[in-house]
Amino acid sequence: MALPTKATHQQTRVHNERLVVRTVYDLGPISRADVARQTGLTRTTVSDVVTGLLDDGVVKEIGRGPSSGGKAPILLEVDQDSRLVVGLDLGEEHFAGSVVNLRGEIRRTVELPVAGRDGDDAVELVFALLDRLLAGTTAPLLGIGIGTPGLVDSRTGTIRRAVNLDWRDLPLGTIVADRYGVPVNVANDSQAAALAEYTYAGEGRVPNLIAIRVGRGVGAGLILRGALFQGDGSGAGEIGHTVVDDQGAVCRCGRRGCLETVAGMRAIEARAAAATGGDADLGAVRAATVEGEPWALAIADDAGAALGRAIAALIGALDIQRIVLLGPVTALGEPWLAAVRREARSRALAPLADEVDISVGRQPSNVVIRGASALLVARELGLSLVR
Ligand SMILES: [Zn+2]
Repeated sequence: MALPTKATHQQTRVHNERLVVRTVYDLGPISRADVARQTGLTRTTVSDVVTGLLDDGVVKEIGRGPSSGGKAPILLEVDQDSRLVVGLDLGEEHFAGSVVNLRGEIRRTVELPVAGRDGDDAVELVFALLDRLLAGTTAPLLGIGIGTPGLVDSRTGTIRRAVNLDWRDLPLGTIVADRYGVPVNVANDSQAAALAEYTYAGEGRVPNLIAIRVGRGVGAGLILRGALFQGDGSGAGEIGHTVVDDQGAVCRCGRRGCLETVAGMRAIEARAAAATGGDADLGAVRAATVEGEPWALAIADDAGAALGRAIAALIGALDIQRIVLLGPVTALGEPWLAAVRREARSRALAPLADEVDISVGRQPSNVVIRGASALLVARELGLSLVR
């Protein structure tokens, strides 16, 4: 049988190119000779690859380094502004996006209100957002990373189901790629947030973590050995629609008693409204817990406890010791967090539970945008924005 030599050469070239870019990105400024030493590639191969990268503008020469006897070597660096990446967060209230460079530095941000749009209108809003973000950009676009609520098949960029936006089997990745002519990566927003939490953790970074976003929906993202784990169908961490109360309230998904009907923002606000006889948002519940109001403390405790029980199951399945909580519901503060910790620890196997650190994350408002763009850069160039 003849081997597909052409494909193999092509694959080797792409592999070598990625290896060189990653080495220059992580270790630059660096000489060609040191790239060869680091990668194990021959100097000739490195020189060929670097010539191509200089032509593309991804890598630049920045002068000569110190000499170790002979002629001082020319040093290489990745030109961080040679390619731009767009990250989107299709949030419940706003669709937001940023243009970032190859180091994840934000160059421009645009936010548009959703105002109840769904279906095709919501897709049009994605286009409007991208058009605004891309107007006047000069560097070539590497690609678009999208973080969206709902169940996503990241392999195909298809949103299998996003209840709020009334999207079902929507091939958003293909639609956006066709319109803008660049690679597109679509991921669940909790998964994107988890990757950002890992990527921008700085000194405190650990290789395994679970990030759980609690807003109207509840979703987790799993980082295993420094990479996002999406599961067989890209749905890893989709814990919000696991039934936790057979007699519970009807959920957006049509079933009864899902985790989000107990631990999510709507459930908390609905209970608060019933308790106070008026509108009560998360801020009001938080304020009432600080005042020691029993109704508010009970709501915070119940919501936290339900989440804690779900976390206990994750601890048992994965034995991951760092759990980071994100999203609006974290505003409930200490009484809520205490209930999460209490239930998670008391229901997981003791030796596992003892080691678990459950805390509220740093959660800048653009955590999904940062994660979505980091995923795109990782997929297209094999680079990790970790710092
Ligand atoms: Zn549900």
